[in-house]
Amino acid sequence: MAEQQQPIYVISDSTRTSGRDAQRNNILAAKIVAETVRTTLGPKGMDKMLVDSLGDIIVTNDGVTILEELSVEHPAAKMIVEVAKTQESEVGDGTTTAVVFAGELLKRAESLLDKNVHPTSIVRGYRLAAEEAQKILKKLGRSVSADDTALLKNIALTAMTGKGAEVAKEHLSSLVVDAVRLIGVHSSTLEDVSIEKKSGASIHDTELIKGLLLDKERVHSGMPLSVKNAKIALLDIALEVRSPETDAKIQITDPSQFQSFLDMEERMFKDMVDSVVSSGANVVLCQKGIDDLAQHYLAKKGIYACRRVKKSDMEKLAKATHGTIITNLKELSKEDLGAAGFIEEISVGDDKMTMVKDCVNPKAVTLLVRGGTHHVIEEVERALHDAVGDLCSAIKYGKVVAGAGSCEVELAKQLRTYAHSLQGREQLAVLSFADSLEIIPTTLAENAGLDPIDTLTELKAAHERGEVSAGLDVFTGKVVDAWAQSIIEPLQIKVQAVQSASEVAEMILRIDDVLAAKKPKASSVPDVNDM
Ligand code: ADP
Ligand code: MG
Repeated sequence: MAEQQQPIYVISDSTRTSGRDAQRNNILAAKIVAETVRTTLGPKGMDKMLVDSLGDIIVTNDGVTILEELSVEHPAAKMIVEVAKTQESEVGDGTTTAVVFAGELLKRAESLLDKNVHPTSIVRGYRLAAEEAQKILKKLGRSVSADDTALLKNIALTAMTGKGAEVAKEHLSSLVVDAVRLIGVHSSTLEDVSIEKKSGASIHDTELIKGLLLDKERVHSGMPLSVKNAKIALLDIALEVRSPETDAKIQITDPSQFQSFLDMEERMFKDMVDSVVSSGANVVLCQKGIDDLAQHYLAKKGIYACRRVKKSDMEKLAKATHGTIITNLKELSKEDLGAAGFIEEISVGDDKMTMVKDCVNPKAVTLLVRGGTHHVIEEVERALHDAVGDLCSAIKYGKVVAGAGSCEVELAKQLRTYAHSLQGREQLAVLSFADSLEIIPTTLAENAGLDPIDTLTELKAAHERGEVSAGLDVFTGKVVDAWAQSIIEPLQIKVQAVQSASEVAEMILRIDDVLAAKKPKASSVPDVNDM
C-alpha cells in the first residue's frame, strides 16, 4: 500500500462556505439584489431595461418584474426575490420598498456582526423590532371607506406617479377607482379586475369595460357579429357527440345503419341546440368544444357562440354576468343565464376577440389598456396593476397611511423610543432596525437628486416636532405634510413589507453553512414508498 494519505471527503465542498464567510456571502448577495432595484424607488426612480438571450426587451420600473426577469443565481439572492413575490401576491404593490428594506436590514446586521454581536442576538432584536413595528403601524393607520372616492383616487394616483402611466394618471386613476368599486367592497381581489392590452390609439383611450374581453372569436361565420341584450348560457359541457376523452367504437355492417347513425347524431345536436334555445339564450360561451354540426344549428338559430373559453374566464364571466356555469344541458334554465348589455366580435390586430360588455352590476371587470407601442402598454399595465392592488388592499383592510417616506420615519422614531426600554445587544439590533427603515426616505431623496443626509435630518426634525405625516415631496425637494399632499398608500403595503423583509433577514442571518444538497429526484411526484 502506498504511504501517501488520501483526503477523505465527507461532504462535497466545492460549493461549501461556512461560518462568517457564509454569512458575508449571503449578505453580499442580498445587498446586490436590493441595490439593483433601489434606483427605481419612488416617482423619480429610473427604469431598467431587461434584455433576454433572444434580444426581447422589457423596460420597467416595477420591482417585482425586474426581479422576476433577472437571472439570479445565488441562493440568498433568490430568497430576497421571494420577498418581492410575496409582496406582489399579498398586496400587489410595494415590492421595491420591501426588497430595499430587506437589503438594508442585512447591511446593518453586517456592521453589528463586525462589532462581534452574535447573529442570534441580532435575530432576536430584529424580531422584537418587527413585532413592535406592527403595533405602531396599526396605530398609524387611518380609516378609509369604499365610498371615499376622492381618497381612493389619491391612492391610485400615488401608485402611478412617476410610472409609465404618469401622462394619463388622472384618467387612469378614475378608471381604477370605478373598477374596484364596481367589483365590490368585500370581494375585492386583484383577479376580478382583468387587464387587457390592445396597441393602437393612446393611453388616454384606455377604457373600463363592465364585463370581459375574451380571446375567442365566434365559431361560425353565419352567427351574428353582435348581440344586444345578451342572454348568455355558460356551459361547461362539450357540444359534441363523442368527447375526445372517450374513444367509442361503432361497428357498422350495412349502409342503412350508417345513415341511421348519422341521423341520430344530427338529432342529438338538434336536441342540444333546442335546449339552449328553449332556455331563452342568444349567446353560448362554452368551456369545451362545439361540433361543426352544432355550430351550424346554433348559427341557424341566430345564436352567438364561442368555444374553448378558459376556465378562469368562465368563472369571471359568471361573476360579471351573474350567470351560472352549467354542467348538464338538461338543467339549463332561464335563471342560469347571464346577462350583458352587448356582445360583439372585435378585431384586435390580427386576432379576433369577443367583447362582453355593459353588464349590470358586474363583479368582474376589465381595463382595456391602449397605447402607442407594445412596451408602453406593458408598463402602463404594470402601473395599473399596482394601483388596483393598492385599492383592493385599502378597501379590504380599511386602513391607509401617508407615504413619501413619512410612515417609515415615524416608525423609526417610535421604534427608537421602544429600544430604550430594552437592554444590551437587542437594543442595538432594534436601533439598527429603526435606522434601516430610513433607507426608504433616503432612497427617495437620492433618486430625486437631493442630498439624502440633509433631507433625512429635516424629516426627522419635523417628526420630532410631532408632524406625524411629514414626508418628502420629491418634486420640490421640500419636507411637506404627505397626507395633506394626498400622497397616500394602503397600510398593508407597510405591514407586509416590514413582515417579509424582517423574516427573510432573520432567516439569512441564521445561516452559517451553505452546502451542496443532493440533486432532486427526477420525478416530482412523491413515491408512496418514500412517505
Ligand atoms: P414600490 O415598488 O415599493 O411600490 P415605487 O416605485 O412605487 O416602489 O415607490 C413607492 C414609494 O414612492 C413609496 O414610498 C411612496 O410613498 C413614494 N411616493 C409616491 N408618490 C410620491 C410623491 N408624490 N412624493 C414622494 N414620494 C412618493
Ligand atoms: Mg409602487
